[in-house]
Order: sequence, then C-alpha cells, then structure tokens
Amino acid sequence: MKKQFIIIGLGRFGSSICKELFKLGHDVMAIDSSPERVDSMRNFSSHAAVANATDEASLRELGVRNFEHAVVAIGENMQTSVLCTLMLKEIGVPLVWVKAKDVQHQMILEKVGADRVIQPENEMGIRIAHHMDSEKVVDYIDLSEDYSIVELVASEKLMDQSLLELDIRARYGCTILAIKRGDEVNVAPMPDDLIKLDDILVVMGHREDLKRFEEKGV
Ligand code: ATP
Ligand code: ATP
Ligand code: CA
Repeated sequence: MKKQFIIIGLGRFGSSICKELFKLGHDVMAIDSSPERVDSMRNFSSHAAVANATDEASLRELGVRNFEHAVVAIGENMQTSVLCTLMLKEIGVPLVWVKAKDVQHQMILEKVGADRVIQPENEMGIRIAHHMDSEKVVDYIDLSEDYSIVELVASEKLMDQSLLELDIRARYGCTILAIKRGDEVNVAPMPDDLIKLDDILVVMGHREDLKRFEEKGV
C-alpha cells in the first residue's frame, strides 16, 4: 500500500531513506535547507522543497500535518533536530523517527516524543562486528537486550537433514523462521523440509542460545 513519508535533512542517511522509499513506490516529500541538496533529490522524491526544519510556519505550509510518518535526519546539529522533532509532534505527525549522533542526543529525542531514535553509525558498527565475529553470520538484528535474529550459512553439518531430525528448537532453544536458497525464501519451513549446503537459515532466539547454535550446531 502506498504511504506518505516526509524526510527532513538530506545528508547521506536522509537521502538514502528518501531514495529507497521512493523506489518502493511511496509518496515521499524531501526537505532540506540547502537548495543543492533539495535539487539532488528532485528525481528521487515525489516533492522536494527548500525549508528550514525549525521554522514551524514553513513546515505547516508544506502540509506536514497530512503525513503519517516523518524522518528527521539531521545528526550533527542537535538543537535543530530536537526542535524539529518537537514541532512535528506538536503539529501531530503520528510517527516521527529521528537520527541521533550519540546517547545524550538519543535521550533528549526520546523525551521530546520521538517515536524511534536511530544511531546509524553505532547500529551498523554492531552489525558489522557480528559479521566479523563469525563468518557464518550473514546478518544480524537485535529484537531486545536478550533476543536476536541472525542469518547463518548452513555447513555440511546440517546438509540433507530435515528440521525434524535436527530438532534445533529442543536442542538449542532456537527457532528457524525461514530458509533462503538462492533467490527463493521458504518463510514457513515444515518439519520435513531438508536443509542444503549453503542455505541461509534465519534463526531467532536468545543471544546465548544463538551463539551456542552458531558454534556447535551449524
Ligand atoms: P549524514 O547522514 O550525511 O551523516 P548528518 O546526520 O551528519 O548527515 P548533517 O550533515 O548535519 O547530518 O545534516 C544533514 C542534512 O540536514 C544536510 O543536508 C543539511 O543541509 C540539513 N540541515 C541542517 N540543518 C537544517 C535545517 N535547519 N533545516 C533543514 N535542513 C537542515
Ligand atoms: P563516524 O563513524 O563517527 O561517522 P567518520 O567516518 O566521519 O566517523 P572521522 O570522524 O573523520 O570519520 O574519523 C574517524 C576516526 O578516525 C577519528 O577518531 C579520527 O581521530 C581517526 N583518524 C582520522 N584520521 C586519522 C589518521 N590519519 N590516523 C589515525 N586515525 C585517524
Ligand atoms: Ca555525518
């Protein structure tokens, strides 16, 4: 379903979100105070406008109120990002996601009502560290402090065995959510589905269980 998004701040983070949402077929309004930045997004957004993120009148004039979901991607200038977030929430935008540069910035954003705070450099660093920690881990998502989803490459150990035979849930407390094979994704694996060499297993579980499965099971 087509959704309406507004992206304020078109640095590397904001512009990549803008382009991707537009490519996915959504209505995206791109805003930045720099005319050059705005121009560079003209072909990758539904509407691009020059405006100051902290000027409430301009934001209202642009119809920000009609958008369901906004992203504030101004990392370096904390004051601007906090003020803009506050205004968007005041105006009544239901979902406001904001980029933060550090923990202090994150805490302030949460206080002024940001619905989600993202620290891209920090989060990407953590994911990359997990890829580096184990060559079996191809992707990694934290669900909470304790629970994660990892994508693991299946080795000979699991080759040609069924999920029933492997009994991963009982032995490791982990759940196989999906099995990827080339371009195909089996999102509802059945007990008698066989695992092939180099399949990618999407596995959910407690961090410690996942680590145990990764080291001993896969
Ligand atoms: P990146 O994602 O590239 O790391 P960043 O988080 O470091 O970006 P900045 O480089 O500080 O953030 O700003 C991102 C964008 O926000 C820039 O294009 C900048 O022109 C724009 N910007 C900064 N202040 C304002 C403002 N008051 N109103 C509108 N846009 C602004
Ligand atoms: P971030 O991940 O925070 O966005 P960045 O990619 O923008 O970082 P910089 O802030 O330019 O990169 O530098 C990152 C780190 O590299 C800094 O701690 C800086 O001190 C260090 N650094 C920069 N140049 C050198 C150098 N020639 N030798 C060693 N360290 C360096
Ligand atoms: Ca930056």
